[in-house]
Amino acid sequence: MKKTLTTCPYCGTGCALYLLADDAGRLIGVEPSGTHPTSRGGLCVKGWNAHAFVHHPERLTTPLLRRGGRLEPASWDEALELVAEKLRGIALEHGPDALMFFSSAKATNEENYLLMKLARAVFATNNVDHCARLCHASTVVGLAETFGSGAMTNSIACVDEADCILVTGSNTTEQHPLIGSRILQAKQRGARLIVADSRRIRLARLADLHLRQRNGSDVALVNGLMHVILREGLEDKAFIEARTENFAALQQEVAAWTPQRAAAVTGLAPEQIVEAARMFAAAKRAMVVYSMGITQHSHGVDNVRAIANLALLTGNLGRPGTGVNPLRGQNNVQGACDMGALPNVLTGYQKVADPAVRVKFAAAWGVERLPEAPGLMATRAMNLAAEGRMKGFFILGENPMLSDPDQQHVRRALESLDFLVVQDIFLSATAELADVVLPAACYAEKDGSFTSTERRVQRVRKGVEPPGAARADWEILGELAARLGYGGMTYGQPAEIMEEIAALTPSYAGIDYPRIETLGLCWPCPDKRHPGTPILHRESFARGKGLFSPTGYQPPAELPDAEFPLLLTTGRTYFHWHTGTMTRRTHLLDREERCAFVELNPEDARELGVRHGEPVLVASRRGEVTARTRVTEMVPPGTIFMPFHFEEGAVNALTHNVLDPEAGIPEYKVCGARVRKK
Ligand code: SF4
Repeated sequence: MKKTLTTCPYCGTGCALYLLADDAGRLIGVEPSGTHPTSRGGLCVKGWNAHAFVHHPERLTTPLLRRGGRLEPASWDEALELVAEKLRGIALEHGPDALMFFSSAKATNEENYLLMKLARAVFATNNVDHCARLCHASTVVGLAETFGSGAMTNSIACVDEADCILVTGSNTTEQHPLIGSRILQAKQRGARLIVADSRRIRLARLADLHLRQRNGSDVALVNGLMHVILREGLEDKAFIEARTENFAALQQEVAAWTPQRAAAVTGLAPEQIVEAARMFAAAKRAMVVYSMGITQHSHGVDNVRAIANLALLTGNLGRPGTGVNPLRGQNNVQGACDMGALPNVLTGYQKVADPAVRVKFAAAWGVERLPEAPGLMATRAMNLAAEGRMKGFFILGENPMLSDPDQQHVRRALESLDFLVVQDIFLSATAELADVVLPAACYAEKDGSFTSTERRVQRVRKGVEPPGAARADWEILGELAARLGYGGMTYGQPAEIMEEIAALTPSYAGIDYPRIETLGLCWPCPDKRHPGTPILHRESFARGKGLFSPTGYQPPAELPDAEFPLLLTTGRTYFHWHTGTMTRRTHLLDREERCAFVELNPEDARELGVRHGEPVLVASRRGEVTARTRVTEMVPPGTIFMPFHFEEGAVNALTHNVLDPEAGIPEYKVCGARVRKK
C-alpha cells in the first residue's frame, strides 16, 4: 500500500491526511496526520471520506465539445485549439475585457497563479476573480482597510489560548469541524463562549450566552456592544492610544447605540447586549471567529468593519488568544486570493494600479506591459453577461449555476455568452451549459500547494493517476497558453511555479517545497530562513496604525413582507460541501443528507399545516423550489433555513442578487420567502 501525505480538499481548516492507495493504484482510504498542527491526528467526516469521490464513474475522462447542441467526446488537440481560437477571436473582435476568467478556490496556488497569469499576460485583461467574491470578499475589503491585511489575524492554535470567544455567523462545528472542536475544548477548560446567530446551532446550545439576533442586524449588535464598553470604561485605553487612529469618530458613531436601540434592531434584550459586552471586554484574551453569516450581506463590508472596530477597542489584536478570525470556507480560498486571482491585485495583494508592480511582473513574464485598470468582479461580470455585454467565460472548477444568487439570472447570463469553457472534474450544472468542457485532475492526482484559513501554505501531493485523459489544471493552462503563442507558462513541475511565485511575492518569498514539506508555513514568510508568521500585527499593523472605521447600520435589501412573509437564510450542512459535486458523489456522506430540506420552526409549521418530512414549495420573488420540511427549533419563528448543496432543490433559485457596493458580494443570508404545502 502506498501512503501519500497531502491536504484535505474540503474546508479551509487545512487538515493534513494520508491518501492510501492499493497496488492497482486506486485509493482505498485516508488516515489523518498525527503531527500536523491543525488536524492533530483527527479528521471530520468529510476528511475521512476524502478519497471516496476520486474514482467515481462520473469523473470526466475526456474533453467534450458541443456539437449539434450536445456535448460529445473530443481529443485534447481539438478542444484546446478551439478554446484558443475562440478566446483569441473574442479578444480581437470585442477587446480582451469581453472575456472573464473564473479561478478556483479548489485549485492549487500554482494553478490559480497560472490562470491569472493567462488572463493578464496573454489576454491583457484584469478580468479574473474567484469564489472569494461569494464568501469573503467583504473580509478582504474590511480588514485591508482597518488593519492593512485582509487575512485571518491569528492562527487556529490561538483558540486554545483565548479566554473569551465570540463566534458570530459561523456554524463552526459543522463547517470547520476541527476548529469547532477546539472551541468546545476551550469552553471546557473555562473560556467564555458567546455565540451570535439566529439559528440554535450546536455551539449556541453550549455557549455561556446565545445572542439570537435577527439576521442582518450585525452592525447594530456590535455597535451596541461597543457603546456599553465605552460607557463603562472597559476599552483598552493604552492600546487605543499607542496603536490606533480615528478613535474620536468611533466614539461619535457608537454614542447613539444604546443597548435599547441595539436591542430594537437586533430583537435581543438590552441586558443580553450589556452582558455580552462585559464578558468580551473583561477577558484578557478575547477573539472573534466569524464566517459567512457576517460577510454575505449587502452591507458585508460594514459588518467586517464593525468587528474590526470591536477588536481594536478592546486591544485584542497582535497577541495569542486574540484576533479577528474569518474562517475561509474552501480549502484554498485564501491561496486563490494570495495568488492574485482577484481583479485588482497581483500576487500578495500587489495592486495592478501600481506602475512599479506592473513593470516588475511584465519583466518577469516577458510581456511588454500589463493592464492597469482593475478588472471585473465575478458577480458584476455575471450581471453584464445577462445583459449581453460579456462574450466569453473561462470557468475553472467553479459551479455558478448552483453557487451564485438567482439561478435563472445565472442561466440567462451563461446562455447569452458566445463561448463558455468549463474545466472541472465532474459535469457540473455549469459544465452542462458549456461549449467546451476540459477534464481536470482532482486534488489527489496532482502536486502543488494550498493555503489554509490561517495562512498556512502546505503541500498537495499526487497519490494516484488521473482518470482517462484528465490532466492537472496547471498542465492544461500551460498548454493553452502555448497554443495562444505564449511560452512563459510551460513548467516541468509545480515546484517551478512556486519558485516564480516566491520571486515575485514578498509575503511568499521564503516559501519553497522543501520548507513546507510536512507542516507548512504561515505567510508572511519574507525570506528562506524566516519561520513564518502565525500571528499578524504584533508590533504594528500592516498599514501602520489600526484604523477605526465607524459604521452605521443599514437593513438588508429585501425583508419579509405580506407577500413573502418569511425570512430565508442559507448555508451549509455537516455532511456536504458547497455545490455538492464531490460530497454528493460520496456514498457515506450523501446517505446522511440525501435531499434538499427547509428548516421551519414548529410555530410556522403549525400555521402552514405542514408536518416534519413533508415536501413543500419554497418561493421567493426569483423562483420556487421543492424541499422536504424539517420542523425544528433550530430556526426562530419567522425564519427558514436551506442549504445550497442540492441541485434538485437549489436554494439559489430563490436568493437575491443584490451586492455589497464595495465588495460585490451577494446577500445570501436574507431575503423574503414563503412556504406552501405541495
Ligand atoms: Fe477536511 Fe475541514 Fe474536515 Fe479538516 S475540518 S478534515 S480540512 S473538511
